[in-house]
This record gives sequence, C-alpha cells and structure tokens, in this order.
Amino acid sequence: MPSHVPVHFGVSACLLGARVRYDARDKRQDWLLDAPAGLFRATPVCPEVDAGLGTPREPMTLVGDPTAPRLVGNDSGADHTAALASAIEARLRAFAIDPPELWLLKAKSPSCGVGTTPRGALTGQDGLFAEAVARCFPGVPRVDEATLSNFRERSRIFGILRARRCEADLACTPLDALETWLALRFGG
Ligand code: SF4
Repeated sequence: MPSHVPVHFGVSACLLGARVRYDARDKRQDWLLDAPAGLFRATPVCPEVDAGLGTPREPMTLVGDPTAPRLVGNDSGADHTAALASAIEARLRAFAIDPPELWLLKAKSPSCGVGTTPRGALTGQDGLFAEAVARCFPGVPRVDEATLSNFRERSRIFGILRARRCEADLACTPLDALETWLALRFGG
C-alpha cells in the first residue's frame, strides 16, 4: 500500500517570508504561506545566513572562473567562498537525512539561483547552493519562485514528481491535491 506522505519542499527561506536577504527584506511568496495546511511540508534554508554572513550584508557576486567561481562582496571585495562552502556542506548533510522532493529556490541569487545567476562572464548559471543540491540530490527538480505559477512548467514538474513517487512506492494523492490547489490559485 503506497504511503500518503505530504510533498516535501526544500525552500529558500526568503521565499517563506524570512527577512534574510542582503537588504534584510524577504521575497515572500503568498501562495506558499496561504496554502491550506497539509498540502506540503517546507524546510527553509538560507545558505548565506548559515555561513554567518549576517543580515543585512553587502550584496555579493560570483566572480572569476565560471566553473569554480568565488563569492565576493561587491563593495569590500571580501571572499566568502569558503564560508559558504562549509555551510552548504553542513546543510546538505542534514537534508540527506530528510530529502526534499522539490527544491524551490530564489532566482538570480549567487547562492540559490537555478539557471538565472551570473558567474564571472557568464549569465544564466546556477548559484552555489543550487549547484550543490543538483550534485547531491540528482533528479530532484529544482525550480524558482515563478515556475509553479506557469501551467506548462507546473505540469512538467509534477510529471517528474509523480514518476519519482511511483518509483519510491509513495502515493500520488498528496501531489494531486497540491496540483489542484495550484491550478485554483494560478489557473490552468
Ligand atoms: S536567495 Fe538564498 S541565500 Fe539569498 S536570502 Fe534567499 S535563501 Fe538566503
């Protein structure tokens, strides 16, 4: 009998309303916070706070070699690459015990961006945390805050989630309920 566990999201904390961005503001996504209880379970993560970089903090950019960029403060030039790498490693060890089915990550961030972050001379790359989750949790979809409001993208992602649930012998009814609610919220 397949198990009916709720869908587990790993989520950039700023999308859940935590004021952890460099400017001490959030990027709250109302649909995440307004969802009926039990539709999903969200585990927040802010890699830059984990790294002890403080809030507020100066904006940072990934510079240098796009395959191994450094995370550098825009004003000070301080190099935070090692601190972020240690924080990411610790977080991923914790997530390995309770792995998400979906990563919902803030676009364009040097830590969290999925295919939207500048790296050195390249645009449209991954942030360092987003890159690490792809390496440690292969096949787990990574999306940004706009993705699930788009019907076509949402359908594609839910197709992947359903296939993975079938392989893991988990019931798809929690996914069905979540997709229905997203359709009511965003249309499609
Ligand atoms: S984008 Fe990521 S690193 Fe930046 S504030 Fe949000 S959770 Fe923290």
